[in-house]
Amino acid sequence: MSSTSQPPSGSSGFTASQLAHLRKSPQPWSPVSWTTKTIHQEAVYEDQKSVEKSLSKLTSLPPIVTPTEIVKLKESLRDVALGKAFLLQGGDCAELFDYCEENAIESKIKLLLQMSLVLIWGANKPVVRIARMAGQYAKPRSKPTEMVDGKETNSFRGDILNGYPVDERALDPSRLVSAYFHSAATLNFIRGSLSSGIADLHRPLDWGLGHVHDPELQVKYSNIVSSITESLRFMRTVGADTAGQLQSVDLYTSHEGLLLDYEQSLTRRLKNPSRSSRAAQSSTQTPDDGKSWYNTGAHFLWIGDRTRQIDGAHIEYFRGIENPIGVKIGPTTSSSDLLALLRALNPSVEVGKITLITRYGAPKVRTLLPTHIRIVEGSEYARSVVWQCDPMHGNTRSTATGIKTRQFADIFSELQQTLAIHKQEGSYLGGVHLELTGDAVTECTGGSVGLAEEDLSLNYTSFCDPRLNEKQALEMAFLIAGHYRG
Ligand code: PEP
Ligand code: MN
Repeated sequence: MSSTSQPPSGSSGFTASQLAHLRKSPQPWSPVSWTTKTIHQEAVYEDQKSVEKSLSKLTSLPPIVTPTEIVKLKESLRDVALGKAFLLQGGDCAELFDYCEENAIESKIKLLLQMSLVLIWGANKPVVRIARMAGQYAKPRSKPTEMVDGKETNSFRGDILNGYPVDERALDPSRLVSAYFHSAATLNFIRGSLSSGIADLHRPLDWGLGHVHDPELQVKYSNIVSSITESLRFMRTVGADTAGQLQSVDLYTSHEGLLLDYEQSLTRRLKNPSRSSRAAQSSTQTPDDGKSWYNTGAHFLWIGDRTRQIDGAHIEYFRGIENPIGVKIGPTTSSSDLLALLRALNPSVEVGKITLITRYGAPKVRTLLPTHIRIVEGSEYARSVVWQCDPMHGNTRSTATGIKTRQFADIFSELQQTLAIHKQEGSYLGGVHLELTGDAVTECTGGSVGLAEEDLSLNYTSFCDPRLNEKQALEMAFLIAGHYRG
């Protein structure tokens, strides 16, 4: 029977079996197929010749991360999706090339490590660590221009595109190559620090809880630290570290995959180290030569809230790569889009492939999240996604004097509500996604450090969104741990 003899049904005009077939045999994909789609947040350069030169250079440079590492992360994220592990992802909103510096990198690694220990203790599960680092250089902006000193100026779009100083706001194609080298240098130092023992749990950690003035909290946090320290001491004493597992940890890198020219240039067809796994069966009709397409610029990439249009260029690019992928989900995500996104990005329903990064804002999460959970968990994607809470991006506001900030209480409120909603719905909140820095910045108000709005100007250094400082971030980890431990 020819397919035209079946009556069309539904709004798409296809029968259910035609739709199923279409889903199984999607359009051919290639690293450049995204260029035929609508590109949101597009970078339009004046000097196209220099762009080509930069992209051609990027194409020849070696991978920053490898398929073996990417597959290892995918295995860990599978555990997260199945409720057997927890995911901690954090770092700057906009990473600057200037952050590619020993102290800035080291303080962030140490903070993520400490937070992960607290979470392991709290959730009683292994923690997968992903840094928003070594490539988080491209920022989506709501407006192409902004007023600076009374003059309409191009918005700062992240170091990969232009510079923050007003005289560097023109898009500069040489920054594409700079981004690669800053990513590589950052990851090189992360790898070096880890292999040299920065995460050696045999060494005492500085928990610095002096800022916690509330005596009850001070006792609570100190007890958590003593408990962690005791556990580590016990493991050492009984010789539970014969394999040296306490000497180092895994730390993966991530960034928003916004600038597709850059992402495409680092996309390589490489041998898939997990041939026996389902991961090798690409959704893109590429010949089965034992190889798959990898984005070699980061282990994990996510699609932002402003670039996840189902028929847009970003979804087209991301549906072809083997890396685990995050998608930001918020108040503007319709239920039908949610399923369409999963079907486009993960047609083979690979467990842990997609992380749904939810960010509604504390006042909205209660009304919006349950519907999204029911749609996903009631579909063929039940138990296959990682649900991750980003309590930062729905809670940004401006002070009366126009400073962009977030309240610690709002951030924790969204997180707490998200935990409760997942519990009610029978789904598993697998992780958190935080904007943080290892430095003592004053960008978010509240927390035990007691930062007030008047304090924001003391050390406000973010060129994009406000981050939790090292004390606020660690406190957030204590609070999450407290939720599990009661
Ligand atoms: C971000 O993570 O910095 C960001 C821009 O988030 P969102 O896409 O959720 O707005
Ligand atoms: Mn941000």
